[in-house]
Parts: sequence; C-alpha cells; structure tokens
Amino acid sequence: ASRYNQAVKENINLYNMLQELRGNIRVFCRIRPLFDSNSRSTIDYIGEDGSVMVFDPLKPQSTRKVFHFNKVFGPKATQGDVYKETQSLIRSVVDGYNVCIFAYGQTGSGKTHTMYGPSGGSVQDKGINYMALNDLFYISGTRENVKYQINVQMVEIYNEQVRDLLAEDSSATRLEIRTCTSNGQMTLPDAKMLLVGSTEDVINAMKLGETNRASSFTAMNDRSSRSHSILIVHVHGEGDSGEVTNSCLYLVDLAGSERVDRSEATGDRLKEAQHINKSLSCLGDVITALAQKNSHIPYRNSKLTQLLQKSLGGNAKMLMFAHISPEVESFTETISTLKFAQRASTVELGAACANKESNEIRDLKEQIESLKKALAKKE
Ligand code: ADP
Ligand code: MG
Repeated sequence: ASRYNQAVKENINLYNMLQELRGNIRVFCRIRPLFDSNSRSTIDYIGEDGSVMVFDPLKPQSTRKVFHFNKVFGPKATQGDVYKETQSLIRSVVDGYNVCIFAYGQTGSGKTHTMYGPSGGSVQDKGINYMALNDLFYISGTRENVKYQINVQMVEIYNEQVRDLLAEDSSATRLEIRTCTSNGQMTLPDAKMLLVGSTEDVINAMKLGETNRASSFTAMNDRSSRSHSILIVHVHGEGDSGEVTNSCLYLVDLAGSERVDRSEATGDRLKEAQHINKSLSCLGDVITALAQKNSHIPYRNSKLTQLLQKSLGGNAKMLMFAHISPEVESFTETISTLKFAQRASTVELGAACANKESNEIRDLKEQIESLKKALAKKE
C-alpha cells in the first residue's frame, strides 16, 4: 500500500504542478510619467499588491476608485522592470505554449513604448518584442536535445482588413484568416513567413514592417494609433527522440482605445472609429463571455478576435498591459481603460497546456483515478 501511496502522491504532485499553470489572464497596469509637470496626476496611490487608486484632482471631493491587477507599474518603472515580470511567459513559449501579449490603452499612453520601445533608444530602452525574441533565441539555444526553428509574420488589422506588413507590396495584399486543419490554429497562410536566426533578423523584419505600415498611407497621419499591429512568432521544436512542439507568440500593439466623438468624425475618420470601436468591443465581449464561462464565445465577430482565438481561449497564456496616461485631461479614458482591464483580469482560462502535453494531462488524470481506486481496494 505504501508503494501505491507514493505513486499516487507523485502523480498528484505532477498533476498539481500542471494545474498551477491554470490561471486568470494576467493583467498588468502601466502608468506612464506625466509629460507636463504642471498638469495634475489622477493617480492617488499605487499599492504593492497590484492595486491602483485614481481620482479626479479637479473634483477632490469625489470618491476615489480602486482597481486591482496582477501588478501595477508606476511612472518610474523601467523597461527592464516590466520585462522581468514577462519573462516567464517567454520561457513557456519554448516549452510549447501559445502566448499572447497585448498592449491596450488610449493613444499616447505608452503602448508602443512597452512593446517596441522608443525609436532610436538604447538596448536598455528596448521593449518587450526585442527582449522576448532575444530570450527566445537564447533559451532555445540552451536546449541541447531539441532543434528549434523560429519564423515571424507581421500584419496589421486596419478597418477590419488584415494586411501583410512584410510583403513587397503590402498595400496590395488582403489576407484571409484560415483554420489549420491539423491543429485548429488560426493561420494566415498567405502572409509572408520570414525564417529568423537572430534577434537582429527580427529587428530588421520589424523595421521593414513599420516602414510598410507608415508608407502606404502617407495621407493619414498617425495611422498607427488606428490599426492593430501584430507580430506573430512561430516556434517549431524537434527533439532528438522525435517529439515535436509548435507554439505561437503573438505580440499585439492595439489601436488607441479612446472614444472618438462621433458628432465630429466624418468620412474615413468615422469609418476608422467605427471599426476600432467594433474590434475593441468585440475583444471585450469575448473576454466577458470567457469570464462568464458561456458556451458560445463570439470570436468570429472581428478579425482581431478571430485571429487571436487560440490564444484567448483555453490552450494558452495571455498577458494584457493596460496603459494609463496620468494627466487629468485623460481621466475619463483612464477610468474606461481600468474598467476594461479589470474585467479582463476576472477571466479564468482553462488549464493552459503545452501543445505537446494535452494527452499527457489526460493520461495523468486517468492514472490518478486508477491509482486511487487501487489504493482504496488495498485499504
Ligand atoms: P501609444 O503607442 O500608446 O500611442 P507611445 O508609446 O507612442 O503611446 O507613447 C507616447 C509618448 O510617451 C512617446 O513619446 C513615448 O516615448 C512616451 N512614453 C510612453 N511611456 C513611457 C514611459 N513609461 N516612460 C517614458 N516615456 C514614455
Ligand atoms: Mg503607438
């Protein structure tokens, strides 16, 4: 009986370990520094426990509102501080998990700063995209028994159309999102896939993507705030013993979440605003449906949620950065960002499982059950 006991214990430990990977969507809030030191900040207090208290300094008598997240990064947090909390997710990509990291917030709140870093910045200033790819190459290089191949795609979603940012003539290509028949992943089979061998390769690809993004719509300034840009990193691993893992890392810089005053917007501007509102509210709907454990999750209502389907649902890990501009002028948008992010943090994803391990979990569950039965008989 003690042998059985031991075996049960070991299996349960393993199972618990796998269960630990289950979790809510992680939500981090990041507050950028005040630009104008004469302006007043709406941030009253940042707690070590992931809480943030905000108020309207023009109405000091009004109630303060508190929101809770997994972590709050204040204006003094460095790119390194932020990446340190993100790094474990990158490790799990190499282990075969799908991971989606996205930046949410109004225009000017620091989304691109977090994901890309300031243009021309030093290495310490580099954003998550750079650090993540750097780590992916490093970690995959340390696994002696597995050979990894890393490919990237880069697309943008603008007015509900997906465009390839790495194609020669990116303005010509409208991409279809398709379901991969072998693993159910959402894929963009027609988007250019670049095999990358180093972080430099990725940086060059991202530069090309950014150039394509900017150049094809010179007439519209600040286009980047009105489209979602998505860097898709495909990690393919082949072990010496023939074991194969395929995982995806999605790095998403979302369109600005600010409400556009519809009475003022007309023509193209109105159309853009409607598309942005639609895709961000679809993202919210998907998150709410996941939080309520609804049987139907409305992924198909926007290109964004359709493409991210497999990293918003069960078999994936997700991290959202909610960005805040601390200026008093942004208070209304700040509250709406915090509410959106708070809602996201209540979502419980199913047990995240590496793409190679789903059968293992099932086997373990069965083993635990049969060992429990055997143990019961012995006693
Ligand atoms: P968004 O992409 O949300 O529109 P940006 O990332 O472009 O916003 O940020 C707007 C400006 O604020 C940029 O000049 C950026 O360098 C600066 N900025 C954003 N976040 C920070 C930060 N944490 N520290 C210093 N500067 C920041
Ligand atoms: Mg930006």
